[in-house]
Amino acid sequence: MAIEELHRKMMSEVYEGGVRDTRVLGAMNGLERHRFVPSRVRHLSYENSALEIDEGQSISQPLMVGLMTQELEVEDENLVFEVGTGSGYQAAILSKLCRRVYTVERHKDLYTDADKLFLELGLSNIVTLYGDGMEGSWHGGPEVFDRIMVTASAQDEIPPKLLSCLKEGGLMVIPVGEEGEVQSLLKVRKGKDGLDVETLADVRFVPLLSGKG
Ligand code: SAH
Repeated sequence: MAIEELHRKMMSEVYEGGVRDTRVLGAMNGLERHRFVPSRVRHLSYENSALEIDEGQSISQPLMVGLMTQELEVEDENLVFEVGTGSGYQAAILSKLCRRVYTVERHKDLYTDADKLFLELGLSNIVTLYGDGMEGSWHGGPEVFDRIMVTASAQDEIPPKLLSCLKEGGLMVIPVGEEGEVQSLLKVRKGKDGLDVETLADVRFVPLLSGKG
C-alpha cells in the first residue's frame, strides 16, 4: 500500500476511536508520522500502535495522540508546554493548533534529533528544551502556559512545579500512576478555587523521571 493510503487508513482508525475535532484531525492528516519514526520500524509508521524509538522510549499510539490533543482543547493563541518530546510527533501536532509549543526532553539524543527534524519540517513555532520538565527553571515564572501536556506518567501526583506554571483557567492532560501498572489519564482544569480533575482513561506510558537521561 502507498504511504498516502496507509495514512488514510490510520486516520479513519483515529476517527473511529473517537477523535472528531476537525482541527485535530486536520493536524494529524497534515503530518507524516513516518518522519518521526526510526528507520528500523518505519514500515509500521501508520499502524495504530505505539512504537519504540531510541533510549527505550516510545512514540504514542496515534489514537492516543489524537484523544489527548482533543482533550487539551488547544486554541490558536495558546502557549503550550509539552513534557517528553520523544520523537517530536505530539509536539508537531500541537504546533499546528496553537501560537507556540515549548517541548522538553531529558534525553540529549532525542532532544537533538527532534530539534533537527522540526527545522527540516519548517515547524518554526516549536521551542525545544533539554532537561527535566518537572524542574521550574524554564517555565519563566508562574502561570505562563495556557495548556500543558505530559506524555510520560507521573508516579503518584501531579508535579507541583508544572501545576504552578499553568495559567488560571488553563488545562493539563497528564497520565498518573506507577510504571508497568494501569495509569490514569487525567484532565486537570485550574480554576480560581482549585483543581477540577477528571479521569479520562486507563493508559500505559513510560515513566516521568527526574534529572537528565
Ligand atoms: N511525546 C512523545 C512521547 C515520548 S515518550 C512522542 O510524541 O513521541 C515520553 C518521553 O518523555 C520520553 O522521551 C522520555 O525520555 C521523556 N521524559 C520522561 N521524563 C521526563 C522529564 N522529567 N522531563 C522531560 N522529558 C521526560
